[in-house]
Amino acid sequence: MHDCLFCKIAAGDIPVTRLYEDEQVLAFPDIHPQAPVHILIIPKLHLQSLDETTAENSPLLGHLLTTAAEIARQQSLTHGYRTVINTGPDGGQTVGHLHVHLLGGRAMHWPPG
Ligand code: 5GP
Ligand code: ZN
Repeated sequence: MHDCLFCKIAAGDIPVTRLYEDEQVLAFPDIHPQAPVHILIIPKLHLQSLDETTAENSPLLGHLLTTAAEIARQQSLTHGYRTVINTGPDGGQTVGHLHVHLLGGRAMHWPPG
């Protein structure tokens, strides 16, 4: 057993509001929201980061993104939203389990910090 926060959340060992769930992915609110809507979408499979993925993971990665789009529609983010995948130290990744951020409900800035 590896010690991974998001694996524990996926397993139900740490309770979260499960906004969407199927066999492959889980979506739940970020604990420190950076926008009025800030949701994390994770694969249930432990992958350290995007850098660990290969072509074998393409269907799962596609499913993560289309799930983010579906949740954005459910959240009525009709003015748009941002999806972010932070990868590694320079990418600002702090949790070592691949996740997609869905941010919305306010205008985002560009370029990011
Ligand atoms: P990263 O910086 O790795 O891209 O994003 C990790 C995200 O996970 C951060 O936005 C952080 O607020 C969120 N986070 C960290 N710990 C927890 C937790 O225990 N529960 C939830 N719901 N989110 C968390
Ligand atoms: Zn994990």
